[in-house]
Amino acid sequence: MFIDIHCHLDVLKDQDKIIDKCKKEEVGIILTNGGRRKSNRDCLKLSEKYLEVKVALGLYPLDAKKMTQKTIDSEIDFIKKNAKNIIAIGEVGMDFKEEDNDEKKEEQVITLKKFIHLSKDLDFPIIIHSRKAELECIELLEKEKAKKVLMHCFSGKLSLVKRIVDNGWSLSIPANVTFSEHFQKVVEMTPIEQLFCETDSPYLHPKKEFPNEPSNVIFSYKKISEIKNIKLSEVEKQIEKNYISLFIK
Ligand SMILES: [Zn+2]
Repeated sequence: MFIDIHCHLDVLKDQDKIIDKCKKEEVGIILTNGGRRKSNRDCLKLSEKYLEVKVALGLYPLDAKKMTQKTIDSEIDFIKKNAKNIIAIGEVGMDFKEEDNDEKKEEQVITLKKFIHLSKDLDFPIIIHSRKAELECIELLEKEKAKKVLMHCFSGKLSLVKRIVDNGWSLSIPANVTFSEHFQKVVEMTPIEQLFCETDSPYLHPKKEFPNEPSNVIFSYKKISEIKNIKLSEVEKQIEKNYISLFIK
């Protein structure tokens, strides 16, 4: 079975068709990540409808930064109430792409800290978005002693990839690894036991089209097989093992 460990199924159209295609391609687990109040609720509904769909709940940093800490706390309560229906906290993290002052950065640190504590309290892996804040995310996760960490679509320096690997955390490789030299290097550097595959659908299409969809996760698997010179069926089996050891309690 193949696994898409990070996508946004709630924003895709023709979900019945998408799930059928996954069945044909043997993509048996689709981890859809919330990130806004509405998408968190939509993702939960999708997992009731489709057996293959699992859920991570969180607040995407660029959305969280528009919310008050009080609203963030109420969403954290909502996540706690739904703990039995989810398998991870995500998509959360920090994004400094639009951030130019330290006060605003500090606000993102406060929010991420809350989600790290939530993931530890509930004993769930935390799925981290870290655009332009890669070092800051790693430092905070280290400081807060997070253990179950999945760095999604990590675009930071290769020295930081090594630090993630040394910390025993995992990295998920998007399907655009077909052409992205950065992600090809990440695959080279990371032991297969710490790798996952993702699509981040509807984004990051393996052939630069739009929208991407979870069945395309197969492109990540094939590229990992090619780079590491391991049979595709072995990559498939190993990542299923990785899933069990990180996500199944
Ligand atoms: Zn995402």
